[in-house]
Amino acid sequence: MSRGIHPVGVIGGGLGGLAAAAVLSARGHDVVVFDKNSWMGGKAALLEQDGFRFDMGPTILTVPAVLRRIFSEAGEKLEDHIDLIRLDPQWRCFFEDGGVLDLRESVDDMERELEAFAPGKKLGDGYRRFQKLAERLNDISERFFFWKSVEGLKDTMDFRRNLDPKTLSDVLALRMGQSVAGIIRRHVPEERVAQMLDHYTQYVGSSPFASPAVLCAIAHMQASGGVWYPRGGTRAVAEALKAFAERHGARFITDTEVTGLDMPGDCVKAVKTANGSVHPVSAVVSNMDAIRTYRELVGGKAAEHYDRQGHEAACSGVVLYLGLSKRYEHLQHHDFVFSRDAKEEFDYIYKRGEPAPDPTCYIAAPAITDPTVAPEGGEALYVLVHAPYLRPHHDWNAMFPAYRQTILDKLKRTAGLHDIEERIVFESHLTPQDIHDRYKVLNGAIYGLASHGKFTGAFKPGNRSRHIEGLYLAGGAAHPGPGMPMVMMSGWIAADALDSDRAARPAEAAE
Ligand SMILES: Cc1cc2nc3c(=O)[nH]c(=O)nc-3n(C[C@H](O)[C@H](O)[C@H](O)COP(=O)(O)OP(=O)(O)OC[C@H]3O[C@@H](n4cnc5c(N)ncnc54)[C@H](O)[C@@H]3O)c2cc1C
Repeated sequence: MSRGIHPVGVIGGGLGGLAAAAVLSARGHDVVVFDKNSWMGGKAALLEQDGFRFDMGPTILTVPAVLRRIFSEAGEKLEDHIDLIRLDPQWRCFFEDGGVLDLRESVDDMERELEAFAPGKKLGDGYRRFQKLAERLNDISERFFFWKSVEGLKDTMDFRRNLDPKTLSDVLALRMGQSVAGIIRRHVPEERVAQMLDHYTQYVGSSPFASPAVLCAIAHMQASGGVWYPRGGTRAVAEALKAFAERHGARFITDTEVTGLDMPGDCVKAVKTANGSVHPVSAVVSNMDAIRTYRELVGGKAAEHYDRQGHEAACSGVVLYLGLSKRYEHLQHHDFVFSRDAKEEFDYIYKRGEPAPDPTCYIAAPAITDPTVAPEGGEALYVLVHAPYLRPHHDWNAMFPAYRQTILDKLKRTAGLHDIEERIVFESHLTPQDIHDRYKVLNGAIYGLASHGKFTGAFKPGNRSRHIEGLYLAGGAAHPGPGMPMVMMSGWIAADALDSDRAARPAEAAE
């Protein structure tokens, strides 16, 4: 069944755009997705060469409940389309002083790990209290923040009508004005463990010292929902969403960049592409970066409005894809190799805007779970180091060789990968400039917009445009933010908002 004469246009086939296309098509809308690249999935791209297979972008899948909800739109089961493998330990952490700590899924297991890691310091008890707080913050997020288009506090909490004792208690529990790093250190006063917990905010490319306390909720999402490896890699998620949307009639057009919108009377009527074609649409879901959507496709007062808000890009990153002749047995599937000083590192990335001299390296070593990622006995080692978003003086062609060596030296020194250079038989990489050019993001950002600001840092442009009729937004720079589960939720919200607007005004769709 198709509602309306013209299809809904989705600009960008990242996970947010694919989720929106899946939900809209399952609800009977005619959908066409445009992407400037030759593949769908955006950052969830694949690199396959010389017998090695790398997920190029996201590697850690959390909160599968979001995917489950999308598949349920058509009465389908997630497990029939993606084979999910639960990983526990979730991360192995290597510290500069030689300490090694596993992040375990259950709070009980983690309590035991912490007692063994720092005996007698009662860190387990602090961790349990931290998780309890994270659960409360997640519950508040579920009620006020998730699954609906929100752009600011007023959209979700009605202070005049709803300020009953329960809501007031929720507002106090949000600990507005406090940072993630502050909350963590108050519960777990051990710098190495705090540094590990800080890294939940790296899922949103933001400094834990500048991010609002509500983001501690991520700790609960990961502990309660698990960390998962989709067989075939996270690429399998993009492929399953695309196949789902195709089964329900969505069409996909690759190698086609959208360069403008036709919007008579501030109402979207068509998308214009770089090759000069014009596609009439009944509405648009933009999965292009939200700020760039307003600046480059919409313009005028709407663009000025978001520019005035002063949103800052989240961090970028340098990724090494290293095909190794032999895997390292002491690595887990996901590993963090921590910097010597969390404050110094975040200061470089988020304040000075320069690469950290002693960075934290995230490693994915998936052969332990899925040996098909490499020739027998080998490893498709993926190393991600967060870097500042692009500044005008950054020339990554010139900066990359020295920074690559900084990263390899760090892996040798802190994670015991002493002979890594001898094991490399295939190598490729992405710099912040590559990320910027490939995905058309804001200043090379990996994770959309930074969540900085201890009061309102979690808010992003909403999924239903307040400025342009028929424009909806999905993706890491729109509500509720970046990371696989959140961008897929943003796609669901954008689709749901469009669908309910259409149901409220059915005649307009057919105009
Ligand atoms: C290296 C790296 C590691 C990451 N690790 C993790 C992780 O472990 N776990 C996790 O949860 N998240 C991770 N992330 C973040 C996660 O990948 C992103 O938040 C998410 O994939 C972004 O999805 P999106 O919907 O915002 O779209 P994107 O992936 O940004 O895709 C947007 C698409 O839109 C297209 N596009 C843009 N403008 C136009 C236009 N005008 N016309 C046509 N097409 C256009 C682009 O080509 C692109 O394909 C990582 C990201 C990167 C890069």
